[in-house]
Amino acid sequence: MKLCKLVKKSKEQSYIAFTAKQNKLQDKKFASVTPSMRIVFAPHCMRDSAVCTAIEKDSYYICLECGSCKIAQISKLAKKLNYMALYIVKGGRTIAKIIQEQKPQAVVGIACFFEGDLAVKMLKEKNLAVQFVPLTKDGCSTTDTDLKQVERVLTLGC
Ligand code: SF4
Repeated sequence: MKLCKLVKKSKEQSYIAFTAKQNKLQDKKFASVTPSMRIVFAPHCMRDSAVCTAIEKDSYYICLECGSCKIAQISKLAKKLNYMALYIVKGGRTIAKIIQEQKPQAVVGIACFFEGDLAVKMLKEKNLAVQFVPLTKDGCSTTDTDLKQVERVLTLGC
């Protein structure tokens, strides 16, 4: 295996280890927060951009649940559980801005390991209970995640 591939793999392993440890450390705190004080962040790359009907704001989208990607099911479940909101974000800065404005007590972040690692560190400094769910298919568009894992995290403490 070439050196750059080895470095990439080792970085991935460290993201995986860090985020798994943080999830475990914060799951009880997360479960104690009422869903109405929890926000879900999903990455814009999960949308099916060819048909997506989501409402676009400056730096995020609001899903209209057209059903063309898994965000529709996540959005429906978040609403059913009375979550504060679900934002489809274009980048990490948006997360910080929304948190400052909405002041949630807990956050579910769906992202690639690289973004997840950054976000977990940033949110830890803000003393928020965070649960991270990794993407199962990475990339710039039509990425994917494990719905069962999202459901397990969203319903923690419910
Ligand atoms: S389910 Fe939501 S995010 Fe996904 S393509 Fe439809 S409107 Fe866009």
